Amino acid sequence: MPILPIRKWGDPVLREAARPVERFDAALRRLADDMIETMHDAPGVGLAAPQVGRSIRLVVFDVGEGPEVLANPALAEVDGREEAEEGCLSVPGLYYPVRRGMRVTATGQDLRGEPVTIQGEDLLARVLQHEVDHVNGVLFLERLDEEHRRAAMGALRDLELGVTPEKPGTQTL
Ligand code: ZN
Repeated sequence: MPILPIRKWGDPVLREAARPVERFDAALRRLADDMIETMHDAPGVGLAAPQVGRSIRLVVFDVGEGPEVLANPALAEVDGREEAEEGCLSVPGLYYPVRRGMRVTATGQDLRGEPVTIQGEDLLARVLQHEVDHVNGVLFLERLDEEHRRAAMGALRDLELGVTPEKPGTQTL
């Protein structure tokens, strides 16, 4: 199983609303396997198909309880608020606090097309919200408050200029 190249910030595929998964076939299972391997190799706790250049609504995640796959993910319920530092494999090296729901119920389909419901708290809830954003063409940078968003844009400009990123806590703006 190959490790797939991860698309980075600035790649237009990350900004597209991905199309629904309609064919639950061997090709989809192979893509899911490759995405899981790519996520583990990175390493990361979640990965969405647009991050490997495939604009379809397929996500994988592993918060330490084994890999899971969800096709056509949607957030049915979001409760509570929690702020925690978050990063993205498509925006390497940058971590900022993001306020998200603390508990979520996500719906979708498994690799056979059967409906599934996943309930998650804390990290799992965060991962599900982050990955659903990805299939909607939204990056975590858009969830930052004004101050951190400015810091992120500055850090991304520096990255384009070849400057090594600093952790946000060390930046003075
Ligand atoms: Zn991400």
